[in-house]
Amino acid sequence: MNIRIHQLDLPPGYTADQLAKAAAKALRCPPSALKKLKTTRRSIDARGRAPRMTVSAEAEFTGRLATGLRNVEPVSDSALPPRPSLRACGGPRPLVVGAGPAGLMAAFSLAEAGLKPILIERGEPAEQRTRRVEAFWKNGELNTESNVLFGEGGAGLFSDGKLTSRSKDRPRVRRFLEILVQCGAPPDILIDAEPHLGSDTLVALVPELRRRLQTLGGEIRFGARLDQLDIENGAVRGAMISSQPMRTDTCVLATGHSARDVYAMLARHGVPMEAKPFAVGVRLEIPQHRIDTAQWGGPVPVLGKASFRLTRREEGVARPCYTFCMCPGGVVMACASSNGLLTTNGMSLSRRDQPFGNAAFLAPVNCRDFGGSASDPQAGIAFQRRMEAAAFAAGGSDYSLPAQRLTDYLEGTPSKDVPTERSFARARPSDLRGLLPEFVDQTLRSAIPKMLRSLRGVRIEEALLYAAETRSSSPVRVVRDDNGQSPGLRGLYPCGEGAGYAGGIVSSGMDGLRIAESVIARFAHNNEENKGP
Ligand SMILES: Cc1cc2nc3c(=O)[nH]c(=O)nc-3n(C[C@H](O)[C@H](O)[C@H](O)COP(=O)(O)OP(=O)(O)OC[C@H]3O[C@@H](n4cnc5c(N)ncnc54)[C@H](O)[C@@H]3O)c2cc1C
Repeated sequence: MNIRIHQLDLPPGYTADQLAKAAAKALRCPPSALKKLKTTRRSIDARGRAPRMTVSAEAEFTGRLATGLRNVEPVSDSALPPRPSLRACGGPRPLVVGAGPAGLMAAFSLAEAGLKPILIERGEPAEQRTRRVEAFWKNGELNTESNVLFGEGGAGLFSDGKLTSRSKDRPRVRRFLEILVQCGAPPDILIDAEPHLGSDTLVALVPELRRRLQTLGGEIRFGARLDQLDIENGAVRGAMISSQPMRTDTCVLATGHSARDVYAMLARHGVPMEAKPFAVGVRLEIPQHRIDTAQWGGPVPVLGKASFRLTRREEGVARPCYTFCMCPGGVVMACASSNGLLTTNGMSLSRRDQPFGNAAFLAPVNCRDFGGSASDPQAGIAFQRRMEAAAFAAGGSDYSLPAQRLTDYLEGTPSKDVPTERSFARARPSDLRGLLPEFVDQTLRSAIPKMLRSLRGVRIEEALLYAAETRSSSPVRVVRDDNGQSPGLRGLYPCGEGAGYAGGIVSSGMDGLRIAESVIARFAHNNEENKGP
């Protein structure tokens, strides 16, 4: 019998022997009764003590289970339905737009099913894109088609590569992670509760995913931008791609939420969209060793670098505040995809070995803050733009990030300088209050010092703020029905973060898999119909 044992308490870096002993103790049996014992999940528990690991494991068990055991269950496989293999039957090939996690996963799944998708990406392949982004950070030279936000790998190519997911759809999470492992990601991501890859791993992994997609019959075109859809009788009939027409009746639209021109194009076509809430704020950087001490009592090399996730409830005029996308041992970075607009974010390498940790501190923005309505679903974008234009100007209009010491920000004094030791070189001392909407400023001013208090030993005089963090999630939802299609335009499959159905690498990749399943089901149905009676 195969069984799963949960809640095993083990030291960091535990050995196979320690795991076997702990599992045997939990089952009240000798270790020899357990075969093929392996860790299936592990998380760090440092609540009020030196860190320990909480582990789940699976094994083949021979013998009779003792009665009254807790945290033990038989293994039942909840797998995804088998993936069909279709023969494309002469019709036009499906088009997937955008090579971020959603588009890559959708295209990969369609290719696996035999549908020979064409994946188009406005930016460059990951290798060239990396060089271009490095030049942007160094000199502020922006290419509006290939940059930190656009290009193969999508918005998260330069990221911490955090693969955390709260989704209960474990089979699809697993499938996404397994595809990454096939392409070279470390197998540990299949068991860690908070896996991360680092930007260096992502940059190496994405070209391998591209090669596999091509081997399966998929095609990928770079420097290819979707400009228009060709529509006939409420259905997709083709697309205009960088001034070249293409015939298709299936368009998976996975363009992310920085592609604001795509929302404008959809609006011109009358595709139903809605404004949705999002969040904005600043990115805060503090020395990583303080975080390690606050969380673990000091460095624990076998665990890497400590992370944090903080929240603060609403209080007077201050709204709730939460941290987002924490990058341990990482760097803050400038991001832009349009001239004159600037936003910030964070990234780290797989080793997470930089001396600072950073995280976004965000306040929620509701539709009524920006006048979002059915008649103006893009109003949230205008709200983001105002902050991004103000950040660009405050940074000196050369894509340097405006930055302010936290102590100055709290006192309401513009910073005269920024610490020489910091992660992002092109930072300009500023007064961030001037570029944050008043309710965001009030929230951050009240919440940040209280939130940092829960990280014991962290010093507010060492914290540096960068602005503006505006693109944590999409301000627009492109409506879709239960079959994954736009109710206003058959054959259009809004997908991923830009469509408003995902947030983060894992959920966007999973949405790509989900939408591919809908497309495959439609092709399978059409194939059946074409066979006739
Ligand atoms: C700096 C940064 C760090 C991040 N860190 C993390 C992290 O550590 N963990 C995490 O889970 N999430 C992180 N995120 C969020 C994560 O990257 C996104 O949630 C995810 O990438 C969204 O995936 P997507 O495929 O829906 O869209 P995107 O990744 O945005 O991809 C969309 C793609 O479409 C292309 N495109 C746009 N318009 C067109 C067009 N007209 N024609 C052709 N192609 C087009 C774009 O160039 C882009 O490559 C980070 C984001 C950023 C910006």
